[in-house]
Amino acid sequence: MNGTIERKGETFGAGGLVSLIGLLLCLTCYGAIVGIPMMIWGHANSYYPMCSNCGTKLASYKVRICPACGTNFNCIPPILRPVI
Ligand SMILES: [Zn+2]
Repeated sequence: MNGTIERKGETFGAGGLVSLIGLLLCLTCYGAIVGIPMMIWGHANSYYPMCSNCGTKLASYKVRICPACGTNFNCIPPILRPVI
């Protein structure tokens, strides 16, 4: 079985929460110093790799076989594809 690694967004996960706190900190002058890195970190961490076949959260984009359903990811990881 073949499948792809999907890039799944998580708005209300830990990454999304950190991103939101960072955004609020950016509204104050000194808060922006820590707010901007928090937003960047939060945004990067609010996405995770997911199996296109069964929807299982994967450890990384380097995973070649889904641990849950055994799908093969013999394709270019979505992270290398141009963002539309
Ligand atoms: Zn799977």
